[in-house]
Amino acid sequence: MSCAIELQRKGISSLIIEKENIVNTIYNFPTHQTFFSSSEKLEIGGIPFITEKQKPVRNQALAYYRTVAERENLRIQPFEKVVSINKKNKLFEVNTEYKAGGENKYLADHVIIASGYYDQQLYGNTW
Ligand SMILES: Cc1cc2nc3c(=O)[nH]c(=O)nc-3n(C[C@H](O)[C@H](O)[C@H](O)COP(=O)(O)OP(=O)(O)OC[C@H]3O[C@@H](n4cnc5c(N)ncnc54)[C@H](O)[C@@H]3O)c2cc1C
Repeated sequence: MSCAIELQRKGISSLIIEKENIVNTIYNFPTHQTFFSSSEKLEIGGIPFITEKQKPVRNQALAYYRTVAERENLRIQPFEKVVSINKKNKLFEVNTEYKAGGENKYLADHVIIASGYYDQQLYGNTW
């Protein structure tokens, strides 16, 4: 999301492809999980994250990042999983599968992979 915001501000269009809902990793945090970072340290795109206590809990972070996505008008394709990425001439071919069934394909000049760490323990990526 942070990359998408920065690209958008430079006039470069981008699309986030997310296999679940946005900020899925935080969605999967334990319900009452308190972040070890202060809310200020968790800010992205320079958008203030203000909480009563210095360290936010899961639901506050979820609300914050979802508000950021909305406010920044980020283009997000949720519930679509990237299954492979191939370089074809000068473009990347990104192949996806919808959670509800069906496949899709995108051609892109550049690809940023931000598939996290924690989630990989559960599902794994094969590319
Ligand atoms: C319990 C807990 C507490 C934490 N507390 C803190 C803290 O206080 N401060 C801090 O700085 N960090 C904390 N972290 C770490 C922080 O959550 C991660 O560093 C951060 O989420 C990494 O961001 P990311 O965008 O790289 O990956 P993620 O947030 O993991 O995002 C990756 C996304 O990619 C999606 N994805 C994966 N594979 C595919 C695919 N094939 N196709 C489409 N989408 C895919 C996933 O669904 C996920 O939504 C904590 C982590 C845990 C588990």
